[in-house]
Amino acid sequence: MGSESDNEGMIIDPGASAKQILSTVKELGLNIRLIVLTHGHMDHIGAVKGVKQATGAEVAIHTDDAKFLRRLSLSTIYNFSFPSTPDRLLGDGDSIDVGDLHFTVLHTPGHSPGGICLLGHGVLFSGDTLFNYGIGRTDFPGGSHSQLMNNIYTRLMVLPDDTVVYPGHGPDTTIGTERRGNPFLRS
Ligand SMILES: [Zn+2]
Ligand SMILES: [Zn+2]
Repeated sequence: MGSESDNEGMIIDPGASAKQILSTVKELGLNIRLIVLTHGHMDHIGAVKGVKQATGAEVAIHTDDAKFLRRLSLSTIYNFSFPSTPDRLLGDGDSIDVGDLHFTVLHTPGHSPGGICLLGHGVLFSGDTLFNYGIGRTDFPGGSHSQLMNNIYTRLMVLPDDTVVYPGHGPDTTIGTERRGNPFLRS
């Protein structure tokens, strides 16, 4: 995602191929300043190192999920390595400012202890907390269904109906669409 005035950009959850991400960055002509991780699961952080090395961007993750980076950096199962420490530890209410992009960190644990959503410009990046007609799994270590539901109700369902939601997986949606039709939420 980039800001139009100065071509500064940030990347949320570089999970897939660093090469592909970097070619998109190049196409858009962005200077990537920050890599924000909505949580520490493998499918969201797989390309962190490659993207960081190529762009020099800082890596930010919530304090409670920083351990995932450390653990993966020590692991020999994966033949690509990870930066062991993030450059920036995030907490609830923190501001993320890159160029003219301004987002607020919402700590929404449940899928993962350090799971966050990013809110700004009428848009919510919901990580693996909320999906289009779905919610995050809570059967991973540190997961909690009641915590996840509580966060969805008290942090996300209080947002305006027209807030556009970009989840970590699947199609984008809006808060209103989920409020009305998400089968996991009581009406
Ligand atoms: Zn996940
Ligand atoms: Zn995921």
